Amino acid sequence: MPRTHDVAVVGAGPAGLAAAVEAADAGLDVALVDAAAQPGGQFWRHYDENRARPEDRHGHHGWPAFTALRDRLYALRTAGRIHCLPGRQVWLATRDDGGTFTLRVTPTVPTPGTTGGREPVVARALILCPGGYDRQLPVPGWDLPGVMAAGGVQALLKGQRTLAGRRAVVAGTGPFLLPVATGLARAGAQVAAVVEANATLGWLRDPVGAVSAPGKGVEAAQYAATLARHRIPYRTRTVVRAVLGDGRVEAVRTVKTDREGRPAGPEREIAADLVALGWGFTPSLELPLMLGATTRQDIDGSLVVAVDELQRSSIDGVYVAGEATGVGGAALSVSEGRLSALALAVSLGSLPGGAAEIRRTQARIRRGRRFAHAMHRAYPVPAAWPQWLLDSTVVCRCEEVTYGELRHAVDDLGATDARTLKMLARPGMGWCQGRICGYATAGIAACPSGRRPTADDLRPLSGRTPAVPVPLGELAALAEGGAADRAGGDSRTGEEAVNRDGE
Ligand SMILES: Cc1cc2nc3c(=O)[nH]c(=O)nc-3n(C[C@H](O)[C@H](O)[C@H](O)COP(=O)(O)OP(=O)(O)OC[C@H]3O[C@@H](n4cnc5c(N)ncnc54)[C@H](O)[C@@H]3O)c2cc1C
Repeated sequence: MPRTHDVAVVGAGPAGLAAAVEAADAGLDVALVDAAAQPGGQFWRHYDENRARPEDRHGHHGWPAFTALRDRLYALRTAGRIHCLPGRQVWLATRDDGGTFTLRVTPTVPTPGTTGGREPVVARALILCPGGYDRQLPVPGWDLPGVMAAGGVQALLKGQRTLAGRRAVVAGTGPFLLPVATGLARAGAQVAAVVEANATLGWLRDPVGAVSAPGKGVEAAQYAATLARHRIPYRTRTVVRAVLGDGRVEAVRTVKTDREGRPAGPEREIAADLVALGWGFTPSLELPLMLGATTRQDIDGSLVVAVDELQRSSIDGVYVAGEATGVGGAALSVSEGRLSALALAVSLGSLPGGAAEIRRTQARIRRGRRFAHAMHRAYPVPAAWPQWLLDSTVVCRCEEVTYGELRHAVDDLGATDARTLKMLARPGMGWCQGRICGYATAGIAACPSGRRPTADDLRPLSGRTPAVPVPLGELAALAEGGAADRAGGDSRTGEEAVNRDGE
């Protein structure tokens, strides 16, 4: 029988790191599981710690905050108070009748011929901090080689010191385009343009919120200085309406738009061999949804887990922190992770006198949320984005479903919601199970009735069981009584994976 921990934390990004060390410091027995080989999550992703050079820290804001958390983590691990499980993905989370949770894990990089790394993690409580990933919108030509998610471009740079191209256009919306563009420029790429769909004056929609995180203002000024130093044009109210190229990216066609994203000005072609696209982030909801947690729609249009003022989800014993409860930046994620651990420790009686610290952390979270709201109001996804699509534009890349096929399902077959669209035209039914095309499909379902996608549009494309593709043998072992580690010899993955939502 695996040992039963007081709490299992999923995710070693800003939220999970903070939650794990805080819970262990409060005397709880903690397991920390993360798919990555080393802690840091998306924001603090960094080159292999065993081979890093000082310059690998470039572009990492808040690095001292990370190293402080990491040092605490390693000290607590050495003291046997945190059981660290890096390089493991949680693919199934269940709760037994007694209220204990079991996480089924699979190694991120399986070692052929071995069965290790699959031992389930059992705990009396969960703190889920799975973060999020880039939100993508389709555009003609986005399936050409050389087009990447902005986060993917940055992950290659931060994690592997690898430049994905020599001449880049970074496009979409939001402040995240800035670290991507400046990171590329500092690493030696030529950044031909940052193409921002919104206007920077959008911050004026909520001036109080905009100044509620002063550190972010400093960060923005540093990015602006780097853009100026490298002479990178920053084109606002402009979108990439097509990616051009024969067999791979050669250029983008941009167009000026009005506030809603409707083309309203001259077009321009910009040569590039790399196009980095990012439209904000989509929270990872697989594990909370698997356990039945209640969701809500956040101000940026994303589906997020609904939590109370102590980060408790609707499921008893399940806390959720970080981007999965609303996209708002690393500092906010740290505070939420911390709060969830403090709240759990107080509820278990292992942190008497924790109430004052809880109140201080809640105040930080309120300020962080205020800033996040201002950011989301400044950088909305333009409502008219489906107008950029051609009938031939691929929307679901796994199942190769085009915009024309989706329109046919809406116009001729009567689909009025995302679930029906999914049934009739198969978007979100392939390898990624809607991770990439889910938001776009929900938007296309909502568009004919002139509305934005609602939580009901997003939900059918957000749940996935298993959370990641796993070898068939792992599922078989589960059915045979949970001896998941017997499945190690079976190296088949992905396409053979059975998915409950695969319909
Ligand atoms: C690609 C990308 C790049 C970003 N870069 C920046 C940036 O440069 N600047 C900035 O201000 N913000 C950036 N952000 C936003 C930033 O991620 C957040 O503000 C912050 O990192 C969120 O912290 P978090 O702990 O909630 O999630 P994350 O940092 O995303 O951490 C989540 C962790 O959970 C793990 N995980 C998820 N699911 C599972 C699972 N099933 N099993 C095991 N482990 C799992 C992941 O491996 C990851 O380490 C980026 C976001 C993304 C998606």
